Amino acid sequence: MRKSAVKPASRLNPDTPQAAQRISESRALLQECRVCPWECGAKRLDGETGLCQAGEPLIVASANVHHGEEPPISGTNGSGTIFLTGCSMHCTYCQNFPISQQGAGRTVTADDVRTMILDLQGRGVHNINFVTPTHFAPQLIEVILKARQSGMTLPIVWNTSGYERVETLRLLDGIVDIYLADMRYGDMTAARQYSKVIDYPLVNRAAIAEMHRQVGDLHLDKDGIADRGLLVRHLVLPGGNSGSAEVFNFLAGDISRHTTVSLMSQYFPTYRAAGDAVLGRRLTPAEYDAAVEAFERSGLTNGFCQELE
Ligand code: SF4
Repeated sequence: MRKSAVKPASRLNPDTPQAAQRISESRALLQECRVCPWECGAKRLDGETGLCQAGEPLIVASANVHHGEEPPISGTNGSGTIFLTGCSMHCTYCQNFPISQQGAGRTVTADDVRTMILDLQGRGVHNINFVTPTHFAPQLIEVILKARQSGMTLPIVWNTSGYERVETLRLLDGIVDIYLADMRYGDMTAARQYSKVIDYPLVNRAAIAEMHRQVGDLHLDKDGIADRGLLVRHLVLPGGNSGSAEVFNFLAGDISRHTTVSLMSQYFPTYRAAGDAVLGRRLTPAEYDAAVEAFERSGLTNGFCQELE
């Protein structure tokens, strides 16, 4: 992997008034919820749940050592993944639909999650990786700061669909070290049809720009393990529906030619995509080759490419 310009780390000190202010500001977003781009207004502090199915309490589906992320994230010791229940997206093909759409998980306290973090750190993982965290951003800001007060030193990975509000992301500045963010679509039509969001490309691009402003290009330590930066995931969908060329051209032209991209071929039809006229099949080799060629033409220089099975 080619080296590139990196933002110096500047973590928010959890023992400062600024950290307390950050917790307070982020919790205020839950009053009439404006955490994610839906801004649906659910009164989560008063017991309501929003379009993401989340209320105030954290719901966690699993906390495990995971070896299946990209090499700089999983490394040799694994990534400490904490999988949150619910999602602000509603993808017809979600590979984790029991967790994202059907509520699989258990309600936990902030202290429970802090204990999970410290336990995973004790098992030698390279990072703490919050999967689908967007709708719980305020709660996780508090958890992360308290875990740091309790001795957690690992990088925090924000493993997200990329459908994020810039105003909420700003509250993660100095708290998240690595953004592992999807760019799912290059145009509105497919986003509306398959994920029920009308504005994904616009919102997603603004979010990626904010993430990159905070953490810069992906930086690896001497052992090849990521310690800071942006890693973009792009799942190639059948029928050209992921808009790969638009996504790569945006990254190369507007973010950084050295953005690290994980190009994913693992799509399979599940959940509501099973039987769909377009998404009801796996990728063809020609479709995946076209995405790889779009990556090469864009001028991007860093990436991982899954083999097409
Ligand atoms: S995070 Fe959930 S409750 Fe909040 S605005 Fe988004 S969908 Fe609504």
